[in-house]
Amino acid sequence: MTHIVVLGAGLGGIPMTFELREALGADVEITLVSDSEWFQFVPSNPWVAVNWRKPEDIKVHLPPLMARRNVRFIAAGAEKVLPQENALLLRDGTRLGYDYLVIATGPALGFDEIEGFGPGGHTRSICHVDHASAAAEAWEKFCREPGPIVVGAVQGASCFGPAYEFALIMETELRRRKIRDRVPMTFITAEPYIGHLGLGGVGDTKGLLESHLRERHIKWITNAKVERFAADRVFVTELGEDGAVKGTHEVPFRLATMIPAFRGIDALNGAKGGIPGLTNPRGFVVVDKHQCNPTFRNVFAVGVCIAIPPVEKTPVPVGVPKTGYMIESMVAATAQNLREVIAGRKPSFEPTWNAVCLADFGDGGVAFVALPQIPPRNVNWSSEGYWVHLAKLGFEKYFLRRVRHGGTDPFYEKFLLKALGIEKLRSREPVAAPKEPAAV
Ligand code: FAD
Repeated sequence: MTHIVVLGAGLGGIPMTFELREALGADVEITLVSDSEWFQFVPSNPWVAVNWRKPEDIKVHLPPLMARRNVRFIAAGAEKVLPQENALLLRDGTRLGYDYLVIATGPALGFDEIEGFGPGGHTRSICHVDHASAAAEAWEKFCREPGPIVVGAVQGASCFGPAYEFALIMETELRRRKIRDRVPMTFITAEPYIGHLGLGGVGDTKGLLESHLRERHIKWITNAKVERFAADRVFVTELGEDGAVKGTHEVPFRLATMIPAFRGIDALNGAKGGIPGLTNPRGFVVVDKHQCNPTFRNVFAVGVCIAIPPVEKTPVPVGVPKTGYMIESMVAATAQNLREVIAGRKPSFEPTWNAVCLADFGDGGVAFVALPQIPPRNVNWSSEGYWVHLAKLGFEKYFLRRVRHGGTDPFYEKFLLKALGIEKLRSREPVAAPKEPAAV
């Protein structure tokens, strides 16, 4: 029997496993390898960090679910991907061979790239549910003794939506606790301007997000390169548009949370130059337009772990975000392409990589749709309102339900998103030539 291994059980890996089972039926053996028995819904981590959610609300225990779907589940974690040998070396010392591999391992968090950064240093994190849970304890302590907050995203980061989201969620919660007046807030970002988001902006994200920060008295520093974190302050160099140093800042904080740069996980050698042929030097998996690695044709990849070049040159490096619906489109294309490849045909399905992002602020939010994610775009739209908060709640409920019950393409995706013109797969119909005008 053909053996497919899915590596990583997050936002990409779980739908990947379900869609493979649906596309290929019982004729293939599927093994899901993770480094934990638990799925975590990463987009809800900012809510965990201010105690709007408990970690257990956004976690799902995977072994019984996978057993029900005839998927072998291994939680040992991968030590090393060995594409030359069609195998994984697992952390328990065993080897796992595969015919096809789908890598969905998300990011390794590059806190070690800046002195004093991360939960092991002087700052908090929302990138993992365990970090968010620890941040929630620190949040309660902070609210008893408030002081300045620093929030944002450092150089090389590729995930800006959650940085804005967390800044504005904290601001909402501080107002609810009636201590906002005791908390100076500074948003520090590598982006060249507020609302760039690693995407060159989407619709009027610049205007919308600047206006939200201004209205809520959050100061900002853009084109920021963080030099180091000390226990109570961050040292920042601000660059001008020409890349020259414009100024330096020493910003005090009692609580700091910044999104780090991402790289490939250690099993992809992300910190040590990557794996030749499989990844780029930061360990992100190189894929073609069919989500397939050009060197190792039996390896596919979906999610944050894939390599995408920046959309444009910026004074301080910023990466392109890989958001939920974009990942869904990678998953849909990969499932169909594996079906074709196993049947002896060439892969032909292409994901749309459409970005649909909801940044919730607790009492409102900003949404943007970029079709496709990389400019130039057919749709470049952003909007705001309380509906964004409700839509984010809906996204959480729908995704967790889907993980628990194993659905693949539910009603609202099929009807609502299609009605908005948001598709997962690129149309394979040739575009009809314009009709000749009738002869007079
Ligand atoms: P992950 O969901 O991180 O999954 C990776 C999986 O790989 C995990 O199961 C992990 O345990 C496993 N793994 C890691 N190392 C190993 C190993 N060595 N061996 C085996 N398994 C391993 N996008 C949106 O569209 N909307 C949002 O609201 C949103 N909010 C976000 C909020 C935050 C705080 C962050 C960080 C990102 C957010 N994103 C959001 C972006 C993106 O959708 C998420 O990061 C998403 O979780 C990425 O999915 P993924 O499958 O690539 O990685």
